[in-house]
Amino acid sequence: MSEIDRLIQYLAKLPGLGPRSARRAALHMLKRRETVLEPLAEAMAAAAESIRGCSVCGNLDTRSPCGICADPRRDPAVICVVEDVADLWALERTGSFRGRYHVLGGVLSALDGVGPDDLNIPALVARARGPEIAEVILATSVTVDGQTTAHYIVDRLAGCQVKISGIAHGVPMGGELDYLDDGTLSQALKARRALD
Ligand SMILES: [Zn+2]
Repeated sequence: MSEIDRLIQYLAKLPGLGPRSARRAALHMLKRRETVLEPLAEAMAAAAESIRGCSVCGNLDTRSPCGICADPRRDPAVICVVEDVADLWALERTGSFRGRYHVLGGVLSALDGVGPDDLNIPALVARARGPEIAEVILATSVTVDGQTTAHYIVDRLAGCQVKISGIAHGVPMGGELDYLDDGTLSQALKARRALD
């Protein structure tokens, strides 16, 4: 296989890109060697080399614990549980949450064969047992799998001395956090309700 075909094949694996858009992206890069191809290749090599999952929360960063876990200005008593780093980014964009996060790495899904052991749930339960944790906010999607996951976590946290809340208010059914505008997301977080 030629280098160009290999490049196109990898690009086509990216979310939102099919073979056709992958060919266009490859051609765009190859025509702009100095402004696009080389800087992008360097950025990807640097990311592959230095970005890791945070050992505490699962966020992606160049250090572990990540910048949020290590930030003394962030409230250590409140953990917001999200499905994915994209949701963490969405909440951070709103600037309205000053606690810390826990990234599950997905949702429970019978269809896709994702069980509790495939998600970052045991670490969440261990964190929630810590004496400094007062509240766990469940910010999983308002989808069937997202809500199934939220219920499962509520069950697993039974016995932990924490308040458990959810952010359903203002989040449309089927809503994934990453697609919400910042105002809606801030509102949803402020209007959270107790789940237990
Ligand atoms: Zn972290």
